[in-house]
Amino acid sequence: MLENYGIDIWADDNFIIEEGVVKLNYASKPSLIEMVKEIREKDYKGPLLFRFPHLIEKQIEKLYTLYTNAIKEYDYKGKFNAVFPLKVNQLPNFLMPLINSGEKYNYGLEAGSKAELFLAMTYNKIGAPITVNGFKDKEMIHLGFIAKKMGHNITIIIEGLNELETILEVEKETSLPTPNVGIRTRLFNAGSGAWAKSGGIDAKFGLSSTEILEAFEMLEENNLTNILTMIHFHIGSSMKTIKPLKNALKEAGHIYAELKNLGATNLSAINIGGGLAVEYSQFQRTAQYHLQEFANDVVFTLKNIAKQKGVEEPNIFTESGRFISASSTVLITPVLELFTAEYDAQHLRLKEKNPPLIEELRELYNDMNSKTALEYMHDSIDHLDSLLKLFDLGYIDLEDRSNAEILANLIIKKAIWLLEVDDYEELKRIDNKIQEKYLVNFSIFQSLPDFWGIKQEFPVMPITHLNRNPTRSASLWDITCDSDGEIPFNPQKPLLLHDVNLKKEEYYLGFFHVGAYQDILGMRHNLFSHPTEINVVFEKGKVKLEKILESQKIIDILEDIDYDTKEIKEVLKNNLDNRTYKVLKKYLHDNSYLKTTWS
Ligand SMILES: *Cc1c(COP(=O)(O)O)cnc(C)c1O
Repeated sequence: MLENYGIDIWADDNFIIEEGVVKLNYASKPSLIEMVKEIREKDYKGPLLFRFPHLIEKQIEKLYTLYTNAIKEYDYKGKFNAVFPLKVNQLPNFLMPLINSGEKYNYGLEAGSKAELFLAMTYNKIGAPITVNGFKDKEMIHLGFIAKKMGHNITIIIEGLNELETILEVEKETSLPTPNVGIRTRLFNAGSGAWAKSGGIDAKFGLSSTEILEAFEMLEENNLTNILTMIHFHIGSSMKTIKPLKNALKEAGHIYAELKNLGATNLSAINIGGGLAVEYSQFQRTAQYHLQEFANDVVFTLKNIAKQKGVEEPNIFTESGRFISASSTVLITPVLELFTAEYDAQHLRLKEKNPPLIEELRELYNDMNSKTALEYMHDSIDHLDSLLKLFDLGYIDLEDRSNAEILANLIIKKAIWLLEVDDYEELKRIDNKIQEKYLVNFSIFQSLPDFWGIKQEFPVMPITHLNRNPTRSASLWDITCDSDGEIPFNPQKPLLLHDVNLKKEEYYLGFFHVGAYQDILGMRHNLFSHPTEINVVFEKGKVKLEKILESQKIIDILEDIDYDTKEIKEVLKNNLDNRTYKVLKKYLHDNSYLKTTWS
């Protein structure tokens, strides 16, 4: 069986393997490698970030379908609404397609800062909901009032009583229309998953039950109970099970019902935040629920509470971001080097008389067959260890050492080759001492910051060579000078890659599900900037690459961190002749990723 990198687990049929390459399972089914080639022919080098707007649309449609089904199933009276949380991806090449795809659903935006609120005010379709979360000052609340005046359907969700006080202040001081107000509740039922800090009694956000009662009294005193429209919670990202959500929902549902019965006549919505999981694993499914089951549970739970308390069934809002965006973006980048490629037989410098262990390595190499492969390979690793010790003690010279390294690596390669033919399963089990290091033209800090920060795994696989089984246990090294810039080999979740000769062939790796959070969390460690990005759209079923945004020029990166670039150019110019400076200037106006042979 050919290695398929778990594509049946994580890819949701968005990508398929056919004829040895990864193809987009859509329209004319173009392969990823043909898109890469088309872009590189236009002379864009370094890592490439492909965005697939049809996959954003697919997720939006899926979300609305789930809830429409559930509402129908339970004859639910409330309506379904959704907003996209801008913090998950604010970049224009992602956001504009999202807004276009969402229009027919009245899909809105969620803002968590002033800058995000400005984006929402500018680009959200009038009438589609805007929700505002996060800590707010008077200026930000004022912005909310102005958005309302623009005609936006905006709800400011308060994180504390002070924010409500500020809303009441602005209401008195201006003649602007008052936006809707929501209350973020601090629920007793904490969330699950890696980001669970968003929920629970000691959560960073939200009002306790005492504060909720106080907030309602403040509204009553100001004759403004009519502005309260929403109860909100968000228990964390990537929920692995439904249970915590159900518990939180019951708690929030009862808070909603209690406030309704206290006289919150316009209270009409429960906002369940985000948290729908994305399958990142290449080895086994991690989310323990079906999406339809999830939506059904939400609707069913709220219906029961409304019935029990005799209140109307609330509208449902969701703010899932990861679920909508993760699958839409894929990073594709070339392997620059296999570290053992230098261990080539033609580099051997064997002598008339070699140290005995070297002679033994030669014999192991010549005599090995598929039955002895594993044993000889381990022997060779032991011999290499001993020879390196002998070198440290001064008993063998640099040529002997070089021969030892080359021979040991040749033996490993031969063993792998023999096992590949005879016993691929055994090969997959062999120990991780013999991994190959793949140098990859990207920065983990820039492109997979969540791997660096919280060890989030992302599906990774070669986009070609898939009609051959991979034979090398791989660790991936990025091009930063930081030892954390590595995805080490993990024997529990082994990544196997192909043994390729990069002098003769290209080898690209795809990193999938990078559309959520990575774009904006990415940092410019070593001054590597955002990769070149491309939107892949379809016209009459044919693929079209558009909105190509090249990775930043070195000079612009320097300007971004406040260098006086005029000064930089002057210093370089004054110290060089004209011809050399001209070359240098070309380099300065290029991006900082590497450009060896195929990169
Ligand atoms: C981050 C956040 C979201 C999005 O969460 P996902 O896990 O990406 O779905 C939704 N609502 C609020 C309030 C958030 O802070």
